[in-house]
Amino acid sequence: MLVFLGFVLGAVIGSFLNVVVYRLPKGESVVHPPSRCPACGHRLGALDMVPILSWLASRGRCRYCGAPVSARYPLVEALTGGLFALAAWLHPVPDAGLVLVWAFTALLIALSFIDIDHYVLPDGLTYGGLALGLAAAALWAFPVAWGEAWRGALAAAGLLALIGGFANLVLRRGASGRPGFPVGLEHVFLAAAVAAWFGWGWGVGAAALAVTINLLLRRPLPWPDALTLGAAVLGVVVASYGMRPLGVVESLWAALLAAGAVALAGGLYWALVPEEDEDDEDDEPVAMGFGDVKLAGMLGAWLGFGPFLVALMVAVFAGAVLGLLFRRRKLPFGPYLALGGWIALWWGASWVQAYLAYLGLS
Ligand SMILES: [Zn+2]
Repeated sequence: MLVFLGFVLGAVIGSFLNVVVYRLPKGESVVHPPSRCPACGHRLGALDMVPILSWLASRGRCRYCGAPVSARYPLVEALTGGLFALAAWLHPVPDAGLVLVWAFTALLIALSFIDIDHYVLPDGLTYGGLALGLAAAALWAFPVAWGEAWRGALAAAGLLALIGGFANLVLRRGASGRPGFPVGLEHVFLAAAVAAWFGWGWGVGAAALAVTINLLLRRPLPWPDALTLGAAVLGVVVASYGMRPLGVVESLWAALLAAGAVALAGGLYWALVPEEDEDDEDDEPVAMGFGDVKLAGMLGAWLGFGPFLVALMVAVFAGAVLGLLFRRRKLPFGPYLALGGWIALWWGASWVQAYLAYLGLS
């Protein structure tokens, strides 16, 4: 019964997600005006908006002008319905937890299809999902406890920002990226470097100081990526030889937490204060979009860091497999991360446990 209810509710939500995917990237309201046929402009009635069935009944054409309607609309509705039903089957209790899982599912579907269409992950959805994940942990300790949620959010975002940083360093043969003003990726790497040596609070403090200096000088002070990222690696390596009070695990954690804190705070700044010159976005090779860093933060808040690593591995694996199958089109990474995140929500923690037991660590 709950599974069936889940499917119906999911199909209805999926119908709404189609509107979100279509309108949100254009900056249009998702509730107003009412839906119209994009071909003839005829306003859609209740009969035209029954999830899945309307499309089947009209054989994929507009009832008013006969223009073809993409099969993606009923597919998104069926996918949302299917995943809502699966969630109800895996979590067969009609409680706040199930509603939260449904919300998580809906967010991931909207993010995935917007990323496929536009190669962006809207800040409203990533930061909204991050805030919802943190609130769920604080209020219901679900899906993870509060301590795991905030550390997961910071460390996951930090990990992706640092992976992107190292990848760009290789692609650019050691040259630094364009510094941001007042805050940019160089501050994320600076935070990681200081944190790897002295602890994560010092890392965040160093980045805040560098941003303050930028504001005082009214221009961006360069922090060479090769230097900061190198110092971060050196800090972890030195810690691994037991030459410092910070152990290797603490050193790594500190670097990830500090990098994630600065990345998410800096990302929030840029989300609220949009960049003026959007045209020079593609003047440097970017191995991983910054949207993926924010999505990682959201997933970390919902999963905790261990299960997030499972999500990341599933994403990389799925990306490799599907990348071979769909070689004609470059697919963004967001949908793979979303898929990994949804799988890790259910099985991530137990896979981490099994792996730790295999290593003899638990
Ligand atoms: Zn029409």
